[in-house]
Amino acid sequence: MQRRIILGLGVIFSAFFCSAFGQQTDSAFLRRLSMDVMNSAAAYENLKFLCKKIGPRLSGSPQAQEAVLVSQKMLKAAGADTVYLQPLKVPHWVRGGREQAELRQANGKKIALAICALGNSVGTGQKGITAPVIQVQTMAELEQLGAATIKGKIVFFNGGMNPAHIQTFNAYAETGVFRRTGAAKAARLGAVAVVVRSLASNPTNFPHTGVTSYNDSFPKIPAVAISTNDADKLSRLLMQKIASELFLKTTCAMLPDETSFNVVGEWRGTVFPEKIITVGGHLDSWDLAEGAHDDGAGVVQSIEVIRALKATAYKPRHTLRAVLFMNEENGGAGAKKYLELAVQNKEQHLFALESDAGGFTPRGFSIDAADSMVAKLAVHVPLLLPYGVYEIKKGGSGADVGPLKTIGAVTAGLRPDSQRYFDVHHAATDVFETVSRRELQLGAFNMAALIYLVDQYGL
Ligand SMILES: [Zn+2]
Repeated sequence: MQRRIILGLGVIFSAFFCSAFGQQTDSAFLRRLSMDVMNSAAAYENLKFLCKKIGPRLSGSPQAQEAVLVSQKMLKAAGADTVYLQPLKVPHWVRGGREQAELRQANGKKIALAICALGNSVGTGQKGITAPVIQVQTMAELEQLGAATIKGKIVFFNGGMNPAHIQTFNAYAETGVFRRTGAAKAARLGAVAVVVRSLASNPTNFPHTGVTSYNDSFPKIPAVAISTNDADKLSRLLMQKIASELFLKTTCAMLPDETSFNVVGEWRGTVFPEKIITVGGHLDSWDLAEGAHDDGAGVVQSIEVIRALKATAYKPRHTLRAVLFMNEENGGAGAKKYLELAVQNKEQHLFALESDAGGFTPRGFSIDAADSMVAKLAVHVPLLLPYGVYEIKKGGSGADVGPLKTIGAVTAGLRPDSQRYFDVHHAATDVFETVSRRELQLGAFNMAALIYLVDQYGL
């Protein structure tokens, strides 16, 4: 009896020491890993190349194709065993020439406004469109006005991002409805075009683009975004009740689909090579800027995960993949292809992490899985706390890795500080200079750390 108690105590004792020892090993390993990432120029230099040497990388553009070739080299240099491409078809939308918007008042005044076409929108053509403009704040208001009022007019959606949301992504999700569906909803009521207040969370003179979707049952009408400052200005001008019309000119167009690629860098696992852990970001970016935060940061951080783990002589138990997805911004073809091939090849996907929320200071991870799985991952928070990650909680993952949930993967997203993301998101301001090297590296480190912990302890 006593012997059994002693044995039992021995088991508890050794279990305690094993886990304490395991934690100590983990924290020592993470310390080494962080030293490597924080001292390495690799991620920042890769980002600089994507932003400054290549520039905007919208699907189907020559720059997107160049980014495919360049990032292949980056993955090889990072130490991936195998680097390969997944061919896919992408939409090829082009912005065309100079875009123009002008409020023309009956008193002869013409007031220029800062706009840009929304992605995938049809253009007005060279002649432009001139029509009376009607302002609405909500979709309910649009419906209330109905076809009798809307027909033949340009609808100005002036609903702004709600500043009361502390997580700006929540405001984006809510107010994004105007950009995503405004053109389709207004066309149903006979509108000739729409102007959407930019999804920016601070006052700005720059319009922010982003994709819009049409409804095949109704006409495709031109859709543009207006800067938040000029949205306020237009709203004030309309309040003056001076008879006026809005002139819009955009020459954007959808060209035939192009062939493009996801870029995959694989590092084979030593214990469970058949089980895959994916880390990724998207290679394409909007045409107005350099796509530094969105999503050059996610791309170079994903490459950095492989480079840094390799540099610390780590041997992954599972197969690790850094995946650079194509066409996240205006179609999601890369995400669909990655899933399709995973199903076709009967791959087992354990975990997939995405970085597509900017290269800002990491704060946490969100996990798109059952509460019990979130709790299981959240036990790692104390190990990440010294590096600024203070929570692992339930939430969305990302547009590219999200679909892997359907084949059983636990999907996750890096959650950086979100306060300044929508200053630059989809606008000309999303340039390399707005990315802090340290913040970018810290994000990459925390991603590598989570990947390491999932690789070590499984799910
Ligand atoms: Zn993005």
